[in-house]
Amino acid sequence: MKISVVIPLYNEGVLVERLVDEVRQQLDLMDETFELVCVDDGSTDDTLAKLLDLRNSKNNQLKLIALSRNFGLQAAITAGLDHATGDFVVIMDGDLQDPPEMIPVLISKIKNSKADIVSAVRNTRQEKFSKRFYINVFHKIFKNISESEQVEQSGNFSVLNRKAVDAVLRFSEHNRYFPGIRNFIGFKHEFVLYDRPDRPEGSAKMSRKKLFALAADAIYSFSKWPIKACLYLGLSGVVIFLLAIIYTLVSKITGLAPFGWSSTFLAISFFGSVQLTFLGLIGEYIFRIYKEVQKRPIYFVKEVYDNTGSEETK
Ligand code: UDP
Ligand code: MG
Repeated sequence: MKISVVIPLYNEGVLVERLVDEVRQQLDLMDETFELVCVDDGSTDDTLAKLLDLRNSKNNQLKLIALSRNFGLQAAITAGLDHATGDFVVIMDGDLQDPPEMIPVLISKIKNSKADIVSAVRNTRQEKFSKRFYINVFHKIFKNISESEQVEQSGNFSVLNRKAVDAVLRFSEHNRYFPGIRNFIGFKHEFVLYDRPDRPEGSAKMSRKKLFALAADAIYSFSKWPIKACLYLGLSGVVIFLLAIIYTLVSKITGLAPFGWSSTFLAISFFGSVQLTFLGLIGEYIFRIYKEVQKRPIYFVKEVYDNTGSEETK
């Protein structure tokens, strides 16, 4: 049985050596064949140079995939999965927030429980209050509105067997959200709990903007809720409109028609804002449809450093 560990990295120069060391230590303990698939997502610091040094010094199980620029975390994960050859594939963040000590726990759970997927679920988090807050809000909303069963508080950290990896790789969509895809594919899914520490060094590479964009991608691609909410709002608008017609007619007939601008103004602003909201939302869908029909490659590989070395795209 071969184990692959996929790690996306973007400007993690300050802790990449410690990361590779700690992951290796855990893998060495397990006495299995393994490979470490590090994806350099277009880092502008010395992440790639440090990884190459590590590879040249002692780690020939270290496979390096250097992307041609920064394509984002989801694309980097896809690149890693594409290049992982193990029977079991672990996916983890490269900032030590997914503790390497959990790798043996994940592996033994997937073997003993005969599950196809084992996800690490965060028991506690030690991040800034504001970040914990909006992540929790996202998980609550996503769980409630998603069409497939979603597991709260699980991120990328998980292990998948070959069957599950192959299923994930069949997704060609551009708007990707790996935890959502992992829950969507079904199969036997088990969980282990862990405490998520804050990153020991460096700053978060998923900026607030990137995190919000990811949350939006997750919601748009796994839920009909945004478009349904519009429909309900539209329908309630129609009901209000009908009531307003009755009110106007009754006032007219009974000679009480008020000559105020308030009602007109309220109606205009209500329908105006509803329409603008709808347009914006439809725009979001069109933008996503456009991105999908363009069928652009999800990432480009600048160089693969395994023991063959080749150039490719996906
Ligand atoms: N990452 C990446 N590409 C990016 C942003 C982040 O490969 O464009 C990697 C990053 O190096 C880290 C992981 O994704 O290994 C998670 O990023 P981060 O810790 O910044 O995210 P958060 O802790 O906010 O989820
Ligand atoms: Mg992190």
